[in-house]
Amino acid sequence: MRTPRYGSKIRKLYDAADAQKREKYVCPRCGKKNVKRISNAIWQCRSCDAKIAGGTYTLTTGVGEVANRIIKEYSKA
Ligand SMILES: [Zn+2]
Repeated sequence: MRTPRYGSKIRKLYDAADAQKREKYVCPRCGKKNVKRISNAIWQCRSCDAKIAGGTYTLTTGVGEVANRIIKEYSKA
């Protein structure tokens, strides 16, 4: 990936996003911290092979959590 060159603010944002996308996340299926980003917004658990569609740079986003809550509410009814 190309790195932005100019401006400290944009560089800071880039570094934060980059660190988040490299990080491992806890799998919602097996509970192990083994979920890695395999592609843009696609995450895969190395333990149970679950594929998760999440945020581009993090596994869950604020918008995603709201959507999940709405889906849960509707599937209860
Ligand atoms: Zn898993």
